[in-house]
Amino acid sequence: RHLDRIGEVDERVHAFLHVDAEGALAQAAESDARRARGEVRGPLDGVPIAVKDVLATRGLPTTCGSKILEGWIPPYDATVVARLREAGLPILGKTNMDEFAMGSSTEHSAYGPTRNPWDLDRIPGGSGGGSAAAVAAYEAPLAIGTDTGGSIRQPGAVTGTVGVKPTYGGVSRYGLVALANSLDQAGPVTRTVLDAAMLHDVIGGHDPRDSTSIQQEWPSFTEAAKAGSTGDMTGVKVGVITELSGDGWQAGVMNRFNESVELLVKAGAEVVEVSCPSFVHALAAYYLILPAEASSNLAKFDAMRYGLRVTPDGDPSAEDVMRATRDAGFGDEVKRRIILGTYALSSGYYDAYYGQAQKIRTLISRDFDAAFASVDVLVSPTAPTTAFRLGEKLDDPMAMYLNDLATIPANLAGVPGISVPNGLADEDGLPSGFQALAPALADDRVYRVG
Ligand code: GLN
Repeated sequence: RHLDRIGEVDERVHAFLHVDAEGALAQAAESDARRARGEVRGPLDGVPIAVKDVLATRGLPTTCGSKILEGWIPPYDATVVARLREAGLPILGKTNMDEFAMGSSTEHSAYGPTRNPWDLDRIPGGSGGGSAAAVAAYEAPLAIGTDTGGSIRQPGAVTGTVGVKPTYGGVSRYGLVALANSLDQAGPVTRTVLDAAMLHDVIGGHDPRDSTSIQQEWPSFTEAAKAGSTGDMTGVKVGVITELSGDGWQAGVMNRFNESVELLVKAGAEVVEVSCPSFVHALAAYYLILPAEASSNLAKFDAMRYGLRVTPDGDPSAEDVMRATRDAGFGDEVKRRIILGTYALSSGYYDAYYGQAQKIRTLISRDFDAAFASVDVLVSPTAPTTAFRLGEKLDDPMAMYLNDLATIPANLAGVPGISVPNGLADEDGLPSGFQALAPALADDRVYRVG
């Protein structure tokens, strides 16, 4: 039925870059056979899922939304993908994304934009707009996204879906094509908080193949979500982040947010305002740290190892081939960040830019530590506005980056966050999102409060 739905709507939504009907049906048949034998592997056995095209899938194309990886078929599965397969979830296909996960609208995909199912003239958020749109359009009940600066939560907010960025190190990055290694984290994209929790239980946990993977036993997030579903928030202390509202925040988004805060009070939570003064510098720090790491990561796309190879006429040297391939294979946003990152890391400027950004990163972590000394969770709207129109911010990188204002601090500090659907904004009737953040390792709290 999901494959039928994809057939009906994906021509318009364009959530998928690749649909694996044959593979998904074979996996579903295996799941049915297990069910008949009474060997069901867990609550999600047989539930289909869509996977963002930044995770390696054995035998299935993995492009990261880039021409430079066109035609590359990974010989292995990312750990997240391997765990989905082990738990019996048929993989419907790979979802569209901004090229190498750089963007907030999915318009930077080399394969054309994804559209927001609520209004096809609007963006579905990014970089994981494909995963969010697939879930919002009922093409998939579940999806996997990745969140380096908000790419799970912000698409969740603007498509009315649930998105979770786990604690850094909570979900393996093995086989996740790196954008910025110190920020990247894969997580669930779903329609309900309980679905997200069940999916997190499947994909999370220690992986010896990821050196930053946390070695500990995690609590059941499914149980945490169920505990929250009673609606009783007695004893929970909630901090509203002062810096994440005000000028530039859409009034209708703020109205829905304030109503939800009231709801938490009615449910018994104690709500206070908390200031995180360094958060105003988060965007500036992120847009130095991320390009720095990305420029280093993207050096491996050299026309020798993966995907595209452009050979200029004449008698080209290896360097000529690399230059021609990278020129043709990377889009504008990727080139912009490679240049910015290379500059920020260069010997004369390293201390002034990258070094300063790292110091801000530390200050942001300290703000979180100070805040979490007095509250259990911090909350804010997930994104300052509802979905904007396609093309509206494409030529203005700064305007595009500003969408990530509220989501970026969590990545810089490695803490977990959830975005839940928060009703429709008054002005335009489009979805808005409510974000809850918790201390590192306390992912159970975002499920409880979500
Ligand atoms: N919009 C952010 C960026 O462009 C988020 C990216 C992400 O989380 N993958 O960097």
